Amino acid sequence: MTAAAPVLRFAPSPNGRLHLGHAFSALLNADLAARMGGLCRLRIEDIDPARSKPAFVDGIVTDLAWLGLTYPEPVRHQSRHMADYRAALDGLIGRGLAYPCFCSRGQIRARIASGGDSPCDPDSMPLYPGTCRDLGSAAAERIGRGDPHTWRLDMAAAMRCAGPTLGYVAFDEAGAHRVAADPTRWGDAVIARRDVPTSYHLAVVHDDAVEGVTHVVRGRDLEAATDLHVLLQTLLGLPVPRFRHHPLLLDARGEKLSKSRDAQSLADLRQAGQTPEAVRARLGFA
Ligand code: GLU
Repeated sequence: MTAAAPVLRFAPSPNGRLHLGHAFSALLNADLAARMGGLCRLRIEDIDPARSKPAFVDGIVTDLAWLGLTYPEPVRHQSRHMADYRAALDGLIGRGLAYPCFCSRGQIRARIASGGDSPCDPDSMPLYPGTCRDLGSAAAERIGRGDPHTWRLDMAAAMRCAGPTLGYVAFDEAGAHRVAADPTRWGDAVIARRDVPTSYHLAVVHDDAVEGVTHVVRGRDLEAATDLHVLLQTLLGLPVPRFRHHPLLLDARGEKLSKSRDAQSLADLRQAGQTPEAVRARLGFA
């Protein structure tokens, strides 16, 4: 029996124009897929109704085509699959692994500030103190009243269910090795936002499984999130892909390129007369 061909993906969020950092990630995914004899899918991660814009989706497709990258159809748009995320979320809720949280960000901040030093998650956000974890029947009443709420993973319950030996295989040019995952450093992470029945974490593990992704290649800024993803994959009975976390491109100040900090977009570079060949060569993909 032959093993299935590798499947990779490039999964941008359409909340701005693509910059060189995205180009690097897209080119690396395409290059690795070609070298492994597999394919690379494009996924539009548009779960954020406020920040995702159709014009940015069009921009992504235009910029990638300009770079010479094409993708198999259909391209998955996460906003079209909310019912699937809801079902995955309901499964976790039904098993007692998630609870509704009615705290606003301000309330959480105030509570944490009054309690002195509190540990932070890998994104430097203070860990949630668990205020809503044991609301019992009051939680259902508040949901019935329509009180806005997120859903949080009950990390202790989730770890009891998943078992302590979580990990994944990390791969690079030098080979592959096992990495231990410690999702507990995220505390009771939000797995569904107030406005949609998912978070980045839940949608990404669901979609990687649905699309048969075998190798996840993305920036080091998401390396710590992988620990949480491995936990969710284990809880949901999904395969754990191999992972590669590539270095991030930095700007002149040594900070990660970011849409919000006005990193020069591929569209800007194109308008300034840069060729796709020049961009590819600059990023090491001549
Ligand atoms: N949509 C995420 C982003 O644009 C990437 C998700 C991933 O590769 O897992 O940062």
